[in-house]
Amino acid sequence: MTDLDIVRIPAFTDNYIWLVHDPVSAETVVIDPGDATPVLAEAERRGWTIGQVWNTHWHADHTGGNAAIKAATGATISGPAAESAKIPTLDVPLEDGDTVRIGAHVAHVIAAPGHTAGHILFHLSDDATIFVGDTLFAMGCGRLFEGTPEQMFANMQRLAALPGETSVYCAHEYTQSNARFATVADPDNADIAARMRDVDTLRAAGEATVPTTIALERATNPFLRADSAGQLAARRAAKDSFRG
Ligand code: ZN
Ligand code: FE
Repeated sequence: MTDLDIVRIPAFTDNYIWLVHDPVSAETVVIDPGDATPVLAEAERRGWTIGQVWNTHWHADHTGGNAAIKAATGATISGPAAESAKIPTLDVPLEDGDTVRIGAHVAHVIAAPGHTAGHILFHLSDDATIFVGDTLFAMGCGRLFEGTPEQMFANMQRLAALPGETSVYCAHEYTQSNARFATVADPDNADIAARMRDVDTLRAAGEATVPTTIALERATNPFLRADSAGQLAARRAAKDSFRG
């Protein structure tokens, strides 16, 4: 549990931008603002001033709002050092093991290459909270655009080892498609079948299915549950062409 306020802001067709506010310090951070407009509107509505942007990777649906947010608020932008050439708005380049803060809350930077070569995660371990960008999704994982199955397998192993109660904030609403694939990839898994029904109910009502938890992903995510890089690779390739 955490005393941070974490607000989900839908953007584009299926992105989620996360607005994080610490009521003690009154600091506000936005994670992966692909679009500035809804972020600035939500912060304004709540009376929050954005002081920082944290980027997990360079893709435009995660960084496209950086410049406008910086222009409007003077926010400091932190993101992966390895992708600084692709994030021209970056102020603070981050490496594995670095930390960033919101008030007294510390986020540990974890390198997670795979979806992109420099992708990073922000783990607030004392808050049992992790922002995973496009690395781990509810019942899925990111596509391997710039990395290898071995790298993504290592990411999944590291995430699976986190405490089960950890809340996982991913950057897309892909769960229904991931769940359909999961029922095919792991057909005898009763937890997947049950979650598929829950996800269908939520989506039919127009509700979000994230954040998720590490415990729920350990039970139902075919990529987190893969027993080898080879199995992860086979599942990732099958999902890439899956039409469920
Ligand atoms: Zn991406
Ligand atoms: Fe994305």
